[in-house]
Amino acid sequence: MFGKGKTCHFAAVPERYLAECNLVVLGVMGSGKSALTVKFLTKRFISEYDPNLEDIYSSEEMIDHQPVMVKVMDTADQDGPVNCERYLSWASGFMVVYSIDNMQSFKGCQRYLEALALHRKALHLDVPVLLLGNKVDMERHRQVSKSEGASLAARFGGQFYEVSACLDFLSVQRVFHDAVREVRRE
Ligand code: GDP
Ligand code: MG
Repeated sequence: MFGKGKTCHFAAVPERYLAECNLVVLGVMGSGKSALTVKFLTKRFISEYDPNLEDIYSSEEMIDHQPVMVKVMDTADQDGPVNCERYLSWASGFMVVYSIDNMQSFKGCQRYLEALALHRKALHLDVPVLLLGNKVDMERHRQVSKSEGASLAARFGGQFYEVSACLDFLSVQRVFHDAVREVRRE
């Protein structure tokens, strides 16, 4: 028997709140955008990936004890920042990739940073941008110094990382998770 005055509460079960974070990976062809994206999603290094394939992938992640649906747009521009509309309004954050063994890719990523800076200024947006120097396993063929990378990132107000899609998974994961953390801070 229920005692008088006792009430029974049926708490509505709230749908689990799952935030979304849309990350766009930019950079010239061959810098390793797909390899980094695939590594983050599968923990594997895939050495050959269709260079023209552009797609959006999703992964449910737990970052700092908070669930988040991370969507990654792995872009495949042929010729620098063109038709940027497809991702400018979609993105919560950008990762601009170059390859430390290729100065051309470093020059190419400056064009992306400039395009993003213009967009941010025009729309008064503060979407985080991370600069990634990929292929640190190719140290002996390095053409872009760490300090050149760091000062470019500082010039555009972004975080800077050096990584490798073919070395350990955790350091690649950390970059993607830090991108989400930057987005959360905004
Ligand atoms: P994307 O055009 O920017 O998507 O570049 P891909 O991911 O297709 O990579 C271009 C080439 O660089 C491929 O041959 C990859 O195997 C290679 N690559 C990508 N990341 C790394 C890396 O971290 N280290 C090395 N040594 N090669 C890499
Ligand atoms: Mg690719």
